[in-house]
Amino acid sequence: MLRSLFFAAAGSARLERLVESAPASLGIVRRFVAGDDGEEALRAARELADDGLAVSLVHLGEGTETTAQAQAVRDEYVALLGRLRHAGLTPAAEVSVKLSALGQRIDEKMAYENARAICAAAAEAGTTVTLDAEDHGTTDATLETLLELRRDFPATGAVLQAYLRRTEGDCRELSTAGSRVRLCKGAYAEPESVAYQSALDVDKSYVRCLNILMSGEGYPMVATHDPRLIAIAEDRARWFDRSTGEYEFQLLYGVRQEEQARLAAGGHAVRVYLPYGTQWYGYLMRRLAERPGKVTLLAQALSSR
Ligand code: FAD
Repeated sequence: MLRSLFFAAAGSARLERLVESAPASLGIVRRFVAGDDGEEALRAARELADDGLAVSLVHLGEGTETTAQAQAVRDEYVALLGRLRHAGLTPAAEVSVKLSALGQRIDEKMAYENARAICAAAAEAGTTVTLDAEDHGTTDATLETLLELRRDFPATGAVLQAYLRRTEGDCRELSTAGSRVRLCKGAYAEPESVAYQSALDVDKSYVRCLNILMSGEGYPMVATHDPRLIAIAEDRARWFDRSTGEYEFQLLYGVRQEEQARLAAGGHAVRVYLPYGTQWYGYLMRRLAERPGKVTLLAQALSSR
């Protein structure tokens, strides 16, 4: 119930203005978002690197409605990649990109061209790009764009969402040599026709997908905070004889930091998904939807206005 309220809130422009204008909401934001600009993101990336953690930086913003906005997002990423290289943070730091932010809803070809420019900048900086997964209406288009990008930039990463019924098949298709695949549960409100609805069914699907990826020839990126799934992934990595560098764990910035440290200390490669930027509202609402218990934090922030 609370979960669906947060999903509804994610699409409410009125609530967005209210939350953004509440000074105390910045406290919650800073738990999950590294800063407003590339400078602050770089600082957070360096701190994580000092702790032995790789990062995937993401510039927040899904509300791209014009060509100019899409180009501004592209330029932000290209500049960021240059700065990461100069700061000596690549190749450990890569970037994650949402095609919607690059104009996918306006013109798929333009989004592809923008993504291509980012992949080229990443290649020049000696690092990679991963294409985030968004709502199921975009899955086909995103995977098609991925395949096109991989012709020239084979290390471009895919994201597959275990809650989608189609994902086992996608795992099989993408489980090939050199293929980087992030497996997550999925963060959008999706209908029963395309997505498993119960937590148990999503978890079972996650394990089936994990088995395919870990036994395959690609590079699995295990993105979850779920202790049971992390334990299963550790087991599968051992079972399928994958050594460090043949898979990685991924967790979100600000979530289960002690687990991030434990995994890194245990010899696993760990990457932190590191968002920054001023358009944090939709991202924050999806994080709160995952932990409805945190509703009190939001209520406190709003009541302090
Ligand atoms: P949940 O089902 O949320 O939680 C399971 C258990 O994990 C909980 O019971 C608890 O024990 C533990 N746990 C979870 N959160 C916390 C917390 N905050 N504190 C303490 N314990 C906690 N989704 C997309 O749709 N597209 C993407 O491109 C995408 N990229 C992602 C990249 C990364 C690196 C990660 C980690 C997630 C990404 N997601 C993405 C989000 C993902 O789909 C899930 O919505 C999110 O990770 C929550 O699912 P979970 O696997 O952590 O487990």
